[in-house]
Amino acid sequence: MAIFQSQPSSIILPAGRSNVIASKQMKMKLTLERFSFGVGDRFGHQARAQLRAFEMLARDGIDAAPVWNKSNREHTLIGSEPQSVLDAAQAAVKAMGWNKGWHVDADHIRLETVDRFIACSDFFTIDVADSIGKRAAAAEVGAFIDRHPELVGTVSIAGLGAPLLMTRSDVEGVAAKYLPAVEDAASVYRHIAARKGEGNMIAEVSMDETDAPQTPPELLVILAALADRKARVQTIAPKFTGRFNKAVDYVGDLGRFEQEFNDDLAVIAYAVARYGLPANLKLSIHSGSDKFSLYPIIGRALARTGAGAHVKTAGTTWLEELIGLAEAGGDGLELVKEIYAQALARVDELCAPYASVIDIDRARLPSAGTVNGWSGARLANALRHVPNHPEFNPHARQLMHVSFKLAAKAGARYLSLLQENEAVVAKQVTENLYRRHLRPIFAG
Ligand SMILES: [Zn+2]
Repeated sequence: MAIFQSQPSSIILPAGRSNVIASKQMKMKLTLERFSFGVGDRFGHQARAQLRAFEMLARDGIDAAPVWNKSNREHTLIGSEPQSVLDAAQAAVKAMGWNKGWHVDADHIRLETVDRFIACSDFFTIDVADSIGKRAAAAEVGAFIDRHPELVGTVSIAGLGAPLLMTRSDVEGVAAKYLPAVEDAASVYRHIAARKGEGNMIAEVSMDETDAPQTPPELLVILAALADRKARVQTIAPKFTGRFNKAVDYVGDLGRFEQEFNDDLAVIAYAVARYGLPANLKLSIHSGSDKFSLYPIIGRALARTGAGAHVKTAGTTWLEELIGLAEAGGDGLELVKEIYAQALARVDELCAPYASVIDIDRARLPSAGTVNGWSGARLANALRHVPNHPEFNPHARQLMHVSFKLAAKAGARYLSLLQENEAVVAKQVTENLYRRHLRPIFAG
């Protein structure tokens, strides 16, 4: 985490270093670690359980920095404040004596939403999806091409199957499509840098919430243009092919994903050297959780190339809370059954905002009566994402995932059940993160 200059000296410093050393380091640039992993914690109770998973990974000899992320959208839905994410993370870091890197991500922010995140975040995911496809002015495109004659013709990039071949009009087309997004990213970057100091921020540009994946030539043009504007981004989140549905596995062509992922790694490594972008610039994969079929592909590519990666998940920690409450039995199980029955009754309303990121076959949702007859273990098995478990039900899992508003509505009752059943809930959260996410991605 950045050492916030505006905060009191009681702030937790990276452990193992004295205050004197740390204060000297305030002048150094904040650098994102090679491996980092974004976690969400909708209700703000699982930071310690999450951190335990990173601690277990570190004990295996693999360091990955936890990045607690919560988007402006999610804060708005839940009614939480960005400061709460820093508070929860800081408390967990202190309680566990975590002495390695950690960060707080202002996720998917824009110029009009970033301000309330600036004091309590050190990682900023600048979302420019809305600016993609606004055509740049001809003069701007012309100026870009004049600055970058090297992009016209053949560009040989180590790690790409074939050299890139772009005509002048190809470069013009790509520049016209992406320069407004790059300018947008650069202006948000400058806005944050002016308030926080460039050395105290990690910036990411995200282009994932758009229609089409960026091709290797597009990525190269984007990176060249970011370098022109001195936007020193440390991660970039392109869109990948396929469906990244919430809370379940990837649906798409694994071979094509692997090709895109490897091509992107090659283009980034090239652009870092060619355009002087930060040496640690890496891919960010906004995969959401549970993309089990992609993890071996990512893990292989990282091991082969030595590249880093940021993998961003978010909301499914709350599903582990439900699984823990179900396993706990008693009042916890009762509440999970109630939430399921309410979700079933409001399925249209709850699913509507997520239509493009869920695939629920309603015929395969068990009735409320059926679920009411289940034991805690049976319900936990239906929701827990173990794909080959005979009782796993991806339809019920996805429905519950989009029903977090119902838990929010249960309010104090939900939160006090989490507290009463902390041990069993935390076990689910830690195991899910460590066993099903961190190990498969980073331990190869
Ligand atoms: Zn995203």
